[in-house]
Amino acid sequence: MSSFQYCPHCGHALTALPLSGRERMACVQDGCGFVQWDNPLPVLAAVVEYDGRLLLARNAAWPAHMFALVTGFLERGETPEDGVARELKEETNLDAETVSLIGVYEFMRKNELIIAYHVRASGTIVLSEELADYKLVAPEKMRIWSAGTGFAVADWLEARGYPVRFFDRQTGQDIPDPRRPWQPLPADATLQYRP
Ligand SMILES: [Zn+2]
Repeated sequence: MSSFQYCPHCGHALTALPLSGRERMACVQDGCGFVQWDNPLPVLAAVVEYDGRLLLARNAAWPAHMFALVTGFLERGETPEDGVARELKEETNLDAETVSLIGVYEFMRKNELIIAYHVRASGTIVLSEELADYKLVAPEKMRIWSAGTGFAVADWLEARGYPVRFFDRQTGQDIPDPRRPWQPLPADATLQYRP
């Protein structure tokens, strides 16, 4: 979310104030009390299993090689399970048969929180105007981007015994698992010189 400079309630200029342990932009106009809390926004993501493969989609605004999970925002009055099923229907025309939680993942770069589901889907794929293309990838062939929704894919693959292979989206090269960049030595380990 972009930051407000002026109060969206009364139009007064916002002021930086220490509130609840952080500096926040707040409205000091009498009787208003607006505070821009700037909390992360929940985003729904779907690891879609269709015909034994995983569905990745390319947004019309993205480069040709870039594919990702189906994602979307939760609507007011909607459960996340209903929301992810709705997004899947809107974007691909597929019907969610089962919806189960994979996990919750940080995406601080966009001040979002990803709620990722495994969705078994059926039906006929018809892409919305938002999407330019899709591909179906066998789980054992998946290569994973090292951010946000990629970690949900990694956890899903790992739980089923599939290989977990990350790649760099810029270079296309395989990279080490970024979730374990460094393994600390066990507490009782000592470095020993062995001639
Ligand atoms: Zn105000």
